[in-house]
Amino acid sequence: MSVAELQALERDYVIPTYARAPVEFVRGRGTRLWDSEGEEYLDFFSGVGVTNTGHCHPAVVEAIRDQAERLMHTSNLYYTEPAMRLARRLSESSLGGKVFFTNSGAEANEAALKLARKASAGREVVVVHGAFHGRTYGALSATPQEAKQAPFAPLVPGFVAVPADPAALREAVGEQTAAVLLEPIQGESGVHVLSEEVLRTAREACDESGAALMFDEVQCGMGRTGTLWAYQATGVVPDAMTVAKALGGGLPIGALITSPRLADVFDVGDHGSTFAGGLVTAAAALAALEVIADPALLRGVVEVGERLATGLADLPHVVSVRGRGLMLAAELDLDAREVVQRALLKQRLVVNAPAPTTVRLLPPLILTEDEVDEGLTRLRAALGA
Ligand code: PLP
Repeated sequence: MSVAELQALERDYVIPTYARAPVEFVRGRGTRLWDSEGEEYLDFFSGVGVTNTGHCHPAVVEAIRDQAERLMHTSNLYYTEPAMRLARRLSESSLGGKVFFTNSGAEANEAALKLARKASAGREVVVVHGAFHGRTYGALSATPQEAKQAPFAPLVPGFVAVPADPAALREAVGEQTAAVLLEPIQGESGVHVLSEEVLRTAREACDESGAALMFDEVQCGMGRTGTLWAYQATGVVPDAMTVAKALGGGLPIGALITSPRLADVFDVGDHGSTFAGGLVTAAAALAALEVIADPALLRGVVEVGERLATGLADLPHVVSVRGRGLMLAAELDLDAREVVQRALLKQRLVVNAPAPTTVRLLPPLILTEDEVDEGLTRLRAALGA
């Protein structure tokens, strides 16, 4: 089928919630994608920060194939080795408590919100401006953006949104607070790094009030910023965190990971999900974690990320560069959506514009220095230079 035929099918049959580019990708390997006409693209977006291992990483593909041939589904009413091993791996690599599996980032945040309220006499959840935590009702209520929330009111009560600054956080958090939920590096708002001072203040306010500090690492986790988990590059350890996106190496799986303090808050029947932590997705996640947790790969993320950030700052029309590791944004003095469109359709470079003047770059973490230079050349051309 041609892209025009796909567009006709979409027009007639698909509820139009996505603004799709007129491209059909049919194959991927590493940092490269190919479209239905055989054109090769350099991927600096990883499907919104999902394919951190690169497309179709052989170890992930093998784990999926191997598990799919033996058994794909039983249910969470029985034991499976991939889920138990993955829970141990996630806990030991981070907060040391226990894990609840989900199918997505929004669902991981739903689990976190329920856990926080069950753990506390407080009902309120404090979030910060610019946050994005997902589209389901709890996660949407934690996402203080008028355009995303307004058509769907009434939302879940009890969410308090404040500026991401220490004084505002201090004032908002008290004995009425169940949790503070933060992205250490905001993704959808256009890659905004919360300062150490903000994170430290949130930690202190939670310690004083007894509220849970929860980090949403759905986008900034899984090696994206040069440490396995983003909080590990800060001096602040949360009481729980949520992960998803890159966790499954390209398949849908998410998780809520707790510290020991919150490990036993949920009882049997408190929460659940049919597919969550399924055999194939958990096997894929174990393989993806094996690839990403490699210290050499994580060092590479830092080094290659620095080269990319420096190169971006030198490009024409780039006003500033934000981010950490391979989670970067370039602020432009041009319409970023037009630049992104030109990059895709003319330069065969996949990037994204989360805001009118912001280009976001989330390349696979296996990116090489040569590919950084290649991407910069293509972006320079897309900028019209
Ligand atoms: N949290 C963050 C920080 C995200 O970036 C996203 C998605 O972009 C989500 C949550 C929601 O994840 P999902 O789309 O898997 O529900």
